[in-house]
Amino acid sequence: MIIIGGGVAGLSAALEAQRLGVTPRLYEAAPGLGGRVRSFYDRRWGGELDNGPHLIIGACSALLALLDQLDTRALLDPVDPCQYTFWRASDGLSHLRCPPLPAPLHLLIGLFRFPGLTMKDRLAAVRLGWSLVQGAEKWAGQSVTQWAEGTGQTEALFQRLWSPLCLAALNEPPASADAPLFLATLKETFLDQAAGAIPMPARVTLDRLLITPAAQKIRQQGGAITTRWRLRQIQTEGNRVTVLKEAKASLSVQKDPVVLALPSRVISRLMPEWAEQKEINTMESAPIVSLYFRFDGLHPLPETMLGCSDGVGQWFFDRCALGMDSGQGQEYAVVISGAYREIHSASEELVAAIMVQLQQLVPSLGDQQPSVVRVVRERFASFSPWPGIKRPGTHTAWENLFLAGDWTDTGLPATMEGAVRSGQRAARMALEFQAGSRGE
Ligand SMILES: Cc1cc2nc3c(=O)[nH]c(=O)nc-3n(C[C@H](O)[C@H](O)[C@H](O)COP(=O)(O)OP(=O)(O)OC[C@H]3O[C@@H](n4cnc5c(N)ncnc54)[C@H](O)[C@@H]3O)c2cc1C
Repeated sequence: MIIIGGGVAGLSAALEAQRLGVTPRLYEAAPGLGGRVRSFYDRRWGGELDNGPHLIIGACSALLALLDQLDTRALLDPVDPCQYTFWRASDGLSHLRCPPLPAPLHLLIGLFRFPGLTMKDRLAAVRLGWSLVQGAEKWAGQSVTQWAEGTGQTEALFQRLWSPLCLAALNEPPASADAPLFLATLKETFLDQAAGAIPMPARVTLDRLLITPAAQKIRQQGGAITTRWRLRQIQTEGNRVTVLKEAKASLSVQKDPVVLALPSRVISRLMPEWAEQKEINTMESAPIVSLYFRFDGLHPLPETMLGCSDGVGQWFFDRCALGMDSGQGQEYAVVISGAYREIHSASEELVAAIMVQLQQLVPSLGDQQPSVVRVVRERFASFSPWPGIKRPGTHTAWENLFLAGDWTDTGLPATMEGAVRSGQRAARMALEFQAGSRGE
């Protein structure tokens, strides 16, 4: 099997092919693997950083199974029993604590205990549960804001829970996020299993957790990985792909099926047919900006991880509490999702805005300025899940060509879980095709 693209989807496709007894050949354009799950050594920081903190939750069943396969799941630090802490300048910290009870009882109890909500807010939360049970189709083409209005979600619930969860999970503000995708995500996270919402931050970089172990396993089992190989054009004959062209060489595709695990914006340039396919060429990208701060001394956050819904920084992580720090002082990671505006802001402006939040969250910082700051901008962090979005499936118009990637129709937002599931599914379909053609 030929796999193009060495991000999480491509690596997952390769591992799945091997699990099913087929040796993959994987080609990646960059010098290193991982795609949007990337770790790098930063000289000024004096250590390894990720291109942004990535959160794994209990509902990421395929990703967690993959980490089991790679023997790295123990590097996650599950917050069990499940707890999310939110902070707002106006009302301080509030905890959403879901006790270890069967779903959806755990969520109901968590919501009923969530501070600062009135009985009206709590009843609105029950209506949310009802709309999840009813199914998401009713909200097709509508935004999360329209869904919230339609189900009578109160301002307090919306501002304090649904809006920050939507931004975090879909990387899109509720007014422009697809309601069915959000509801499907809430269902997988909170209703399908009690452990689904448990946050599982990693204690190591993404590269050590996932990318290097995956690459090692592929190679150990005889798979071939070629980096600095950029696909430029795909040639077809009838309903088959025949040649994959890069700058200097071409790969002739004979019996091998091909899995393309590339970003949508790359795919649309590879074949004229895709440039015209609306589902691919109208997909836009949503940015994420991440900031890393280091201060002298130790100044822990009130919680290892907390969400803020009324400031520029939305999620704050205490890297020291996670054991990810370099031992040179207090380190925080801060995430700005749906950062359409902030991707263009000057770093000084972002740092100043987040410093205001940090000084309120951690009073012991006083007027202290950070000793090092690193701003990481990811322009193409995820696809924009706009209302009514249509995503292509795994099969293509060419019988030996299969699509993978977090942007394909996984039913999930752009996540590592979606990427793993898409890669595994593409590998399985490719092998089914191969088995079928042998039988012909
Ligand atoms: C800052 C940030 C924070 C995130 N936070 C989270 C989170 O908290 N939780 C979560 O689950 N997910 C998170 N994500 C999303 C997650 O990283 C992605 O969903 C996932 O990595 C997508 O993997 P992929 O394999 O589908 O795509 P990609 O990682 O984009 O892989 C595509 C690969 O194809 C390669 N390629 C491109 N063009 C060519 C070509 N012509 N020829 C050959 N190769 C090519 C690329 O170099 C890349 O390696 C975050 C992403 C970012 C950027």
